[in-house]
Amino acid sequence: MPHGHDAARAVAQVAGVAVDTRHWINGERVTSPDTFTDTSPIDGAPLARISRGGAAEAAAAVDAAHTAFPGWAQTNHTERARILHAIADGIEARIEELAAVETADNGALLRSHRRGVMPRVAHNFRFFADWLLQLRHDDFDTRGHTNHISWDPAGVCALITPWNAPLMLATWKVAPALAAGNTVVLKPAEWSPLTASLLADIAAEAGLPAGVLNVVQGYGHEAGAALVRDPRVARISFTGSVPTARHIAGAAAANLVPVSLELGGKSPLLVFADCDLDLAVDLAVEQFDNAGQVCLAGTRLLVEASIADEFTQRLIARTEALRQGDPRGEATDIGPNIHPAHLTRIDSFVQRALAAGARALTGGGPNTDLGGLYYRPTLLTDVAPDAEIVTEEVFGPVLTLQTFDTEEAAVALANATRFGLAAALATGDQERAHRITGQLVAGTVWVNCFFVRDLRAPFGGSRHSGIGREGGTWSFDFYCDLKNTVTAPKGWLTRG
Ligand code: NAD
Repeated sequence: MPHGHDAARAVAQVAGVAVDTRHWINGERVTSPDTFTDTSPIDGAPLARISRGGAAEAAAAVDAAHTAFPGWAQTNHTERARILHAIADGIEARIEELAAVETADNGALLRSHRRGVMPRVAHNFRFFADWLLQLRHDDFDTRGHTNHISWDPAGVCALITPWNAPLMLATWKVAPALAAGNTVVLKPAEWSPLTASLLADIAAEAGLPAGVLNVVQGYGHEAGAALVRDPRVARISFTGSVPTARHIAGAAAANLVPVSLELGGKSPLLVFADCDLDLAVDLAVEQFDNAGQVCLAGTRLLVEASIADEFTQRLIARTEALRQGDPRGEATDIGPNIHPAHLTRIDSFVQRALAAGARALTGGGPNTDLGGLYYRPTLLTDVAPDAEIVTEEVFGPVLTLQTFDTEEAAVALANATRFGLAAALATGDQERAHRITGQLVAGTVWVNCFFVRDLRAPFGGSRHSGIGREGGTWSFDFYCDLKNTVTAPKGWLTRG
């Protein structure tokens, strides 16, 4: 059973910020008998001992969310939106703290957390608060009867998130789920659990009632698995890997619960000879962001053969100029990977590829100058189209380079994996871009750009990259039960 308060070991100081290491259930901090150690990818140092939740904590959190649901669902839209904006205010007031803790916990660049990620975390709340207030469908008429469509809150939402962009991905689910009038149990990833705890503090300070947002810490196979199996859960939204998605989809199937799956990718970046080569090289270098731990990353470079040599030389030069090191440094371009087990996984992909005949044009192993979890940005060529390194997600700073001679061959290569999350292309020919876009299997296609994201757009993947779309009204469609109310015209019954 979850234990009560145990303040003595409850708070860790991380980057000078006090972070509560316990669960947040029904507006209270709750501890577990067991803990697990959270370490920093920057230097491997232990950051905190986190409460290790399991079935009891998951059940307690679902209880709380279930009890709080009717009150929150009936809270009027204006008030819900006001509280979500107050959460956004709280996030904005603590951007420096959130950025510092997130960088300590997952090793992504501090400057990007400060300037890009955390402002967008706040925006997630503002956007879905505002979208709620203008969410409507025009009424329509059926032989004098009015059809009125409404989005009813669905109930308790189980939200399970990965470690690569912890607070961004958590709030991308929490904000629409709460805006829709649902209550939430969030299970953050065990490798980066800290900012979810700070979010609970911020939401409470913003006046979110007890039980509306709950955070259960713990391992996926314990806390996560128990949460998604609970029959009182009305929606499951998951971002993470394909193998875990199979477990989660199984649990959702058993309870017939709608599930949203945002999974991995092996996205192509197609570079045509008519492109702006500077732009194309910029786009390729961008794929090393967050040390390659980006689901959308275009890790397969598909380059038209006639420009491949020049493109490759420029890319190698740019890659070798990337400054790798402490992610807190203002000048750092690429930081560490998340965890020793993940670094080993990345390197084993690369070593198997090299053993199978691939050639490293740059990189090809851990950065021995830095030690720890730093992996050198790697570019591999001479890879077979069906090689593991070309078809499986590495989730590290590893790109492959293949060439093509025709547009048809480029499209065939682009679509040749089981994934379909995103694709990017660099071309100076708008007609070609239009033609190719229609043939690519991908939830998002970027033409001459990368990572431009708008919350109004549907986001998700095809094939094994996911099931469903979130964003704008699509989020409300997922987190709500849609209802059509048909009202007869006045006098209809007496006329009948
Ligand atoms: P993961 O699947 O190992 O873990 C994700 C979450 O699921 C964690 O919170 C984990 O504790 C939990 N979990 C694990 N087993 C579980 C189980 N049996 N039941 C319930 N929950 C369980 O993924 P990861 O390694 O944390 O994240 C990396 C993956 O996420 C990559 O494949 C990446 O592409 C993907 N990702 C996708 C998107 C997207 O939007 N499509 C975004 C970011 C990351």
